[in-house]
Amino acid sequence: MTRFAYVNGRYEHHDMAAVSIEDRGYQFADGVYEVVAIWKGSAVDLKPHMDRLERSMSELEFRNTPERSSLGVIAKEVVRVNRVQTGILYIQINRGTAPRNHLFPAGEINCSVVMTVRHGLGPSVSEIQNGVTLKVQDDQRWQRRDIKSIGLLANVLAKQAAKSSGAFEALLIDPDGTVTESSAANVWLVDQDGTLVTRPLGSEILGGITRARVMSIASDAGYSTKEAVFTLDEVLSAREVFLTGTTTFVLPVVNVDHAVIANGHPGNTSCDLRDRYQSYLASLKPRPSWHVSE
Ligand code: PLP
Repeated sequence: MTRFAYVNGRYEHHDMAAVSIEDRGYQFADGVYEVVAIWKGSAVDLKPHMDRLERSMSELEFRNTPERSSLGVIAKEVVRVNRVQTGILYIQINRGTAPRNHLFPAGEINCSVVMTVRHGLGPSVSEIQNGVTLKVQDDQRWQRRDIKSIGLLANVLAKQAAKSSGAFEALLIDPDGTVTESSAANVWLVDQDGTLVTRPLGSEILGGITRARVMSIASDAGYSTKEAVFTLDEVLSAREVFLTGTTTFVLPVVNVDHAVIANGHPGNTSCDLRDRYQSYLASLKPRPSWHVSE
């Protein structure tokens, strides 16, 4: 099936779609992005994704940014023309195209906007059922991880190192010994009291949309939750560990650097939250919800 991408005002064949070589995203990684889950043809948690996208642009002082309502229209159209029922919508906005110069362009240039889609979403059945393994690594990223920047080289290297060692993901550790997150997901543990713990929001981690959703699902289900920093030792002695993210959903972790977590099987709380998150997705209305403000 032909795939279409949106690039700066045009819907183009995915394989032919391109931006200028002087696009600042290409030259300086001067861009931000969002990955939104598409479920039953509908965008999951679109409003918080749009809020985060606008925040990322604002933190980087982008000017002439696209209207939120226009982004909603384009997103809906890209999903429709590609007939995506279950998949992901990728939105990238760069500062714009200008002759190469580190300084922000002086003139009134528009941001570049690209949207693409991919069919298929979520981890494999085996990963969901058996849980995954993590490889511990130093967090080598910049100090504004709260901005969803396209500058992902440190994330790429961490994920590749994890994969090369046979692990699914990285468990990233800051120089102070605290766990930040993984290369593309937030990290949680269930402590010996049964409390769910995840790192507080701040510049050390990305504020995951799935993290916030799971926090609310867990509270509604009566779990006690806490935002606190934790160390690798606390991960290794936790009752359970799991990841959350748009493409990982709620994913149990059973092994960290060859150390088995608890009994080496996905724990009850992780499995329950995994199921509750999937029920949340299943409960979404089949008709597309493209309201960027609700
Ligand atoms: N942390 C990082 C570094 C990520 O890249 C992602 C998602 O890509 C997440 C956390 C999870 O965020 P979300 O739940 O919004 O997908």
